[in-house]
Amino acid sequence: MGLLQPARGPHRPRRRYALTLVTDFNGLAPDFLATVAGKRVLVRSDLNVPLDGGRITDDGRIRASVPTIKALAEAGARVVVTAHLGRPDGAPDPAYSLAPVAARLGELLGAPVAFASDTVGASAQETVAGLADGDVALLENVRFNAGETSKDDAVRGAFADELAALADAFVSDGFGVVHRKQASVYDVAQRLPHAMGGLVATEIDVLRRLTVEPERPYVVVLGGSKVSDKLGVIDNLLDKADKLLIGGGMVFTFLKADGLEVGKSLLEEDQLDTVREYQARAKELGVEIVLPTDIVVADSFGDEASARVVAATDIPADALGLDIGPVSGAAFAAALADAKTVFWNGPMGVFEQAAFAEGTRAVADALTRVDGLSVVGGGDSAAAVRTLGFDEAAFGHISTGGGASLEYLEGKELPGITVLEEEGA
Ligand code: ADP
Ligand code: MG
Repeated sequence: MGLLQPARGPHRPRRRYALTLVTDFNGLAPDFLATVAGKRVLVRSDLNVPLDGGRITDDGRIRASVPTIKALAEAGARVVVTAHLGRPDGAPDPAYSLAPVAARLGELLGAPVAFASDTVGASAQETVAGLADGDVALLENVRFNAGETSKDDAVRGAFADELAALADAFVSDGFGVVHRKQASVYDVAQRLPHAMGGLVATEIDVLRRLTVEPERPYVVVLGGSKVSDKLGVIDNLLDKADKLLIGGGMVFTFLKADGLEVGKSLLEEDQLDTVREYQARAKELGVEIVLPTDIVVADSFGDEASARVVAATDIPADALGLDIGPVSGAAFAAALADAKTVFWNGPMGVFEQAAFAEGTRAVADALTRVDGLSVVGGGDSAAAVRTLGFDEAAFGHISTGGGASLEYLEGKELPGITVLEEEGA
């Protein structure tokens, strides 16, 4: 299936790549869907949303989980959703209850969601037993049970046995956790007939297009706070991309490696040699590494009143860089203008504050104009796109899983995907 050619022109609404993928061939496998009527299907979703008290501040992950749950319910399954929220200590903790998520999920599905107040105990068993065909239940935070994340295979396996006992089949749809070898992601798939959910299938398909024969020009934009978080990605994408644009906190290690002074900006001295190696390799491969030529600096972190633009060669010793400057924002946008494939991870600046958000806005805006596949990866980058007011539909794909997409792009094996390729019980 080919890419639908979008209409030309910067402001014309376009048909988007990821949407074609979702509707055309990335849903749940039809032969699996045909088997689920009347069956209890355990779905691992990623419902790990930010909460402010009991209020959900960004329901993106819940919305992304709806299509798979809905497809199963419409096919007549008794859908049992399991998910985590935050990092509780392997024991029940009301601060991390999924109860508000159950309510929001119900609103989005347009049908009530039964909520079990435990993970695999009496409440879970009763709730599942009470489901009719087409009903949906959500189990309490799976990390309230220490077995979920245990490093001990036997402990994890025992918990997976209990989860598996609640269902006849398993669907893995929590993309944000597929890089984790956890009971509800990995071990349960070994115990039940299983299928890949539509969200995971879409994410994997998009990531594959970023690594296997990407359409060219292929531009990778990296930012965010730390170089050390992104080294694996740079390493793996350097010989695939045509251009690498660097901003965010990590750029100062690159500028320093070029011999510039970076004042009090974020700097990872211990990565300077690695960065120099990348620069040498990029040169050999003919990959262009584009660094900003102007920087928004401030006297101290978060001090918006002192924000001013300086040349990258002129960062004052007592200031720190908190965004790429306007000339660089325009240059990055120009470098993206003819791209056919773009992967962007990591904000260009401290976008949480207006004075340092323009670089991120310029890159996000350029991505919305890409005539090809544009992918946003990373939790903060996705949040930036939304808080800066961009329409999510203007991007080819916004990944729901930061860590999982980075590990995939680093070339690592994802246990939650590998296990789906094995036979179920
Ligand atoms: P993602 O979650 O998209 O992978 P990261 O977690 O790597 O992104 O980085 C996001 C954070 O980086 C943001 O909170 C942002 O404020 C911070 N950041 C961006 N530029 C700078 C900078 N110049 N100095 C310090 N922090 C920065
Ligand atoms: Mg982050």
